[in-house]
Amino acid sequence: NILVLGSLNMDLLLRVPRAPEAGETLIGHSLALFPGGKGGNQAVSCARQGAQVRLLARIGRDADGQALRAALAHDGIALDALQVDAQTPTGRALVMLEDSAQNRIVVLPGANATLQVDEALLARQLAGAQFFVTQLESPLPAVLQAVAAAHRAGCAVLLNPSPMQPLPDTLWPQLDTLVVNEVEAAAYAGCAVATPEQAAAAGQALRARGVARVVVTLGAQGAVTVEQGGCSLQPAPQVQAVDTTAAGDTFAGALAVALAQGQSLAQATARGVRAAAVCVTRVGAQVSIPTAAEVDAQPEA
Ligand code: ADP
Repeated sequence: NILVLGSLNMDLLLRVPRAPEAGETLIGHSLALFPGGKGGNQAVSCARQGAQVRLLARIGRDADGQALRAALAHDGIALDALQVDAQTPTGRALVMLEDSAQNRIVVLPGANATLQVDEALLARQLAGAQFFVTQLESPLPAVLQAVAAAHRAGCAVLLNPSPMQPLPDTLWPQLDTLVVNEVEAAAYAGCAVATPEQAAAAGQALRARGVARVVVTLGAQGAVTVEQGGCSLQPAPQVQAVDTTAAGDTFAGALAVALAQGQSLAQATARGVRAAAVCVTRVGAQVSIPTAAEVDAQPEA
């Protein structure tokens, strides 16, 4: 049982041979809409790993919002906490995907920016949840309020602080598990992060601020775990990456479900790495997130 608070965006995916230079005009391959947003992606990843999931998010009263709602309902995600904003359009993301699998993303928050947290309602939604999972594509005050409520309620908090933004020192001790990519690890820990050794050092620095467990994702290298007992590298299997959109979200969701099932941090991270390896071989955000059976079929590194 997992409660996710986060963003919902309709992704407008433009596939191009390569990104155009300033002033240049290029012929693209295709343009299509895909359900996305970090909150929705992480909720879908949890649901496809077999967890009971509730999503606290906000959409606009428009076609994009309806399409996102339908996609989430299809995955069996409880949507009684989904808010509808009559004034603001559903969030959107413009994703430019190159043949090289490099992407460039611009997010227009829309209704995500007006997400509200009702403490009494949240307390009921947290009852029975083993994990509270959130990111930073939602308003920071709402995220901080919800993290504090979850922590008070004894629910383990998993934070994926993405996109990166300054956070208060009081947040770190409320976190059970922190999931950061190289860029976030470097920025929050204040050191360079490219190698597994550097990732472990950054993880130790973040643990010193009060986070119980840290996972640093390293793209094609896999992920590094840092906890009281020590560090481990969980290498990624070699795959043909076509689109890494939602790789980090797939990872975070699969990790949360494995931790909620009682697996060790290293085991749960290995599961997340396998799930994310499947995700990067497919185009799109939520449509690229694998089921538990598809993860089982992915060989380990
Ligand atoms: P983000 O996408 O959030 O920036 P990463 O690039 O670190 O984060 O990717 C998250 C996870 O996705 C990695 O830890 C890894 O398990 C998986 N992943 C990303 N890129 C690849 C790749 N090219 N091959 C295999 N796995 C990958």
